[in-house]
Amino acid sequence: MEVFFLLISIVLFSGSKAFPVDDDDSDIIIVDSVLENSIDGDDSIIDVSSLGPEAFGIPKNESGDNVAEWTESSLMNPEEMGGYAEGDILMPKFARNGIRERTVRWENGIIPYAIDKAGYNRDQQDMIMKAIADYHRLTCLRFVPYSGQTDYIIIKNTNTGCWSSVGRTGGRQEVNLQAPGCVSKKGTILHELLHAIGFLHEQSRPERDDFVYIQYSNIKPGAENNFKKADTKRTSDFGVSYDYNSVMHYSEYAFSKNSQKTIVPKIKDMKLGQREGLSRGDVKKVNNMYNCKKEEPTSGWVGQVWQSFFGTKT
Ligand SMILES: [Zn+2]
Repeated sequence: MEVFFLLISIVLFSGSKAFPVDDDDSDIIIVDSVLENSIDGDDSIIDVSSLGPEAFGIPKNESGDNVAEWTESSLMNPEEMGGYAEGDILMPKFARNGIRERTVRWENGIIPYAIDKAGYNRDQQDMIMKAIADYHRLTCLRFVPYSGQTDYIIIKNTNTGCWSSVGRTGGRQEVNLQAPGCVSKKGTILHELLHAIGFLHEQSRPERDDFVYIQYSNIKPGAENNFKKADTKRTSDFGVSYDYNSVMHYSEYAFSKNSQKTIVPKIKDMKLGQREGLSRGDVKKVNNMYNCKKEEPTSGWVGQVWQSFFGTKT
């Protein structure tokens, strides 16, 4: 529907001299690029305009230096230590198109991937494979080894922190998981892959102020931008209510300047920022985004662990 309106507005815009015509027609090119990439119409489009222009850039060693200092006892998660949009979102700049405010889903939920194995030891490679196995067990997504597909992700270890772009941007796209910080916990890997799959952060949801207090006085100067909310008209919750357990939720101390909490849940004693595994809500959202009917496990040892972790399915 959105593309339809954009097309209409382009027709109106280009057909009328009453509007000032800007030589920089990047808006129009953005729409073209969406159409080129779009496989199954409007449904596949992911709007990333809420991230703002700072999401588009290049990897930075400075972010890597911060993540190199992360340990399991750090107050925040390693992906909250980067200098990218919301800490860990980095969209590629396209030579021809400039900034693109929309990406798309992976066609049929198939994500070709490669791992730069030289960058990881055996345990770290295993951790990445465990994260991928979780997606296979719980969702309809299929990560398939790269074999020449046009669009694919490459997981690599450079000294630039933990980061990914959101959705399928087209062509080769990098997911950087700096070792050891970004591959210490399975949840960090699941988190970055969820960005590549098409999701933003949980606390960026338009209704988040109903669920958490943001303590602006504790946020590092200049990092306030990371706490922006997405536009309610442009985002979908995929039928899942606000999820404190989401692997996409920041920790309580994200971007803190003083080791005081920057996010306080409105429910007492609720923990934020877990990076152990996908939450029930995360799984549901992925499956709803990709039109997957898969039921969560209720039997066998996987089902037992799952049900005891999240409570019996209702
Ligand atoms: Zn993130």
